[in-house]
Amino acid sequence: MTLDLLAIAAHPDDVELTCGGTLLKSRAQGYRTGILDLTAGEMGTRGTPALRAKEAAHAAKILKVSWRGTLGVPDSDVQASRQYKLAVARTIRTLRPRTVIIPYWDARHPDHYNASTLAYEGCFLAGLKALPLEGEPFRPFKILYCTLFADVRPTFVVDITAHFKQRRNAILAYSSQFRPKGAAKRSKVFIPLDTLEDDMNLLARHFGNLIGVKYGEPFLQKELVQIDDVVDLPVRSF
Ligand SMILES: [Zn+2]
Repeated sequence: MTLDLLAIAAHPDDVELTCGGTLLKSRAQGYRTGILDLTAGEMGTRGTPALRAKEAAHAAKILKVSWRGTLGVPDSDVQASRQYKLAVARTIRTLRPRTVIIPYWDARHPDHYNASTLAYEGCFLAGLKALPLEGEPFRPFKILYCTLFADVRPTFVVDITAHFKQRRNAILAYSSQFRPKGAAKRSKVFIPLDTLEDDMNLLARHFGNLIGVKYGEPFLQKELVQIDDVVDLPVRSF
C-alpha cells in the first residue's frame, strides 16, 4: 500500500491532538492517509497497552486513515538510534508518502523532540540508494512540522472547521486517557475532560482566527512557500 500523506508521532493520540483535522481534510480531498505511532504508549499512567491499541484502532477508523502502524520504540525512551531510523526508513520505503507530518523539533516531552529527529532522519535515510535495507529507495518530497503545542510562529494554518467535530470524536476515542473510570480519575496526571475540551477548542479557535476561519491546525515548513498567483491569495488583510 502507498500513501499520499503520513503523520508520524511518538505516542498514540499525539496525531489526533495535533493534526487530526488535517488528516480528515486530506482524506476528504481524495488523498490516502496514514499514521505511524513510534511507541505503543505503554508508559502511560492510565490504560493497558491492549486497551490503548484498541483505542488507537478506533481513532484510526474515525480519522478514515488507510493505514496505521506502531514501530515498537520503547515509550519514554524515544531516540534517533540507527536501529529505529532504519525501521522508519523501511516503513517510508513501503508506504512512499509524498508528504510526511512530524512533531516540531522543540518540545517539553523528550519523546516528542526525539520523535522529530528520528522521523526526519528516517525519512532521509529511506532515500539513500547504498543503504543496506530492503525496498526501493524513496524520500518524501515534503516534511511538515506540527506546531500546535510549540511556542513558534507557524508557516501556515489549515482550515479544519468542517472536520472539527470528527477530530473531536477521534480524540475522545482515547477514553482511558481522557475519560478514566474509578481510581484512575484521581491520578495527579489525569487530564479532566473539560480541560481537554477547553484546550482543544481554544487552540483550534486561536489558529483558525489567525486565518479568518473558525478552527485551524498550524504547521511549519523549513522551506519558503512558493506562490504563483499573488492576486488570488486567501486570508484577508483588513
Ligand atoms: Zn505524546
